[in-house]
This record gives sequence, structure tokens and C-alpha cells, in this order.
Amino acid sequence: MRNISKGNIFIISAASGTGKTTLVSRLLNNHDDIRVSVSHTTRPARPGEIHGQHYYFVDTEKFETLIGESAFLEHARVFDNYYGTSVEGVNILLEKGCDVILEIDIQGAEQVRRTLPDACSIFILPPSFQALAERLNGRGTDSPEIINKRLNKARHEIEQAFLFDYVVVNEDLVTAEMDLLHIIKSHRLKQSSQQLFIENLLENS
Ligand code: 5GP
Repeated sequence: MRNISKGNIFIISAASGTGKTTLVSRLLNNHDDIRVSVSHTTRPARPGEIHGQHYYFVDTEKFETLIGESAFLEHARVFDNYYGTSVEGVNILLEKGCDVILEIDIQGAEQVRRTLPDACSIFILPPSFQALAERLNGRGTDSPEIINKRLNKARHEIEQAFLFDYVVVNEDLVTAEMDLLHIIKSHRLKQSSQQLFIENLLENS
């Protein structure tokens, strides 16, 4: 049944430090019909990050060329760097029948909602502001200056949660993963997501 339907797009946004990347990784490991779009970014790779797997790391000149070629479904400047979602990358996954997760910031989410109103948007919340601050400090990957920037931005980002279709609180990783999975499954079962299947069924009746 899944093979004759094109996949669906799921936008997942959160304030940084909410555990979004860990949550999405768990989902991907457990479900091979769910894939994440690998974004392009101008930010330098962090230790352990692999080009083509975590991001496509490109310079500003290359990124701006890609903008000029309309290669991005959405793009935004986040913390002084460009980030963008490749149209081609997403389409390849959709054509395979995979559901595609866009792990993007709220500016990108707004652009995708406008361009693709059928995309399902999910916002991940931390259980509290204190938990968010602790996670950002514990991550150890960013300077105190960057962490402060991220915390200041977090409040503004969380205010945007009202614009999303679903909200998941990441207090417990396993529960939050199940919540995400249920959202993805119920979106797949929507009539609008199953039009190809219905048409195919009728054609072969
Ligand atoms: P990080 O640098 O920590 O990997 O990501 C910083 C922020 O950029 C996160 O909120 C992440 O979701 C967002 N981000 C990652 N890829 C994209 C993208 O392709 N587009 C947009 N708009 N934001 C992105």
C-alpha cells in the first residue's frame, strides 16, 4: 500500500537543546520508510559530523549560487549561517514513497507551510525552561556566547509553537518518539494522503 503513494512531508521544529535531533535519529533508526532531508549549511562541521550525512557543508558563495538557482524549498539565516532544504533531495525521497522529515527552524517552517500547505508541522517543546538551559550547557559543543544567543532565541521560538499542527513535549525520549510516530501514522491515514491508493483500487476493481 505504501509503495504506490508518494510520501508526506513532516516539518519538525524546536528551540535548540530540546532533543529534536536525538528524537529524529531514533525514529529513523527504527523506521526505514521515514527519512530526513539532509540540509545544506554554511556553518562549519562540528566534530563527528559527516558531509552528506549530517549536512552538506558548503561555503557562502556556493550557497548563494544555489539560492539563485532556486535549488531550495526553503532557506534561512540561523545564528549567522545559512541553512537550506534541497528541493531535489526532498523530491527523490518522496518519489521513493518515503515520508520525509524536514528538521528546520521556525523561519524555514513558515516558508514550507506557505509553499506546501499539506505538509504536517510538529513543534517539540522542552518540559521546562530550566531543562532547556541544562541541556544546552551539557551539550558542550557551543561557546557560552552561542548558548546565551540560543536561550534568548528559544523564548521567541517557543511562542511560535501556536502555529504548528502538533506539539510534542520531550520530557521522556521514548514517549516523545511514540508521540511522533502516532502523528506520522495518522497523517498517512488521511484521505488526502491516500488518493493514489484509492484511485488504484478503483482502477483495478
Ligand atoms: P545546528 O547548527 O545546531 O545543526 O542547527 C541550528 C538550527 O538550524 C536548528 O534549529 C536546525 O533545525 C536549523 N536547521 C537545520 N537545517 C535547516 C534547514 O535546512 N533550513 C532551516 N530553515 N533551518 C535548518
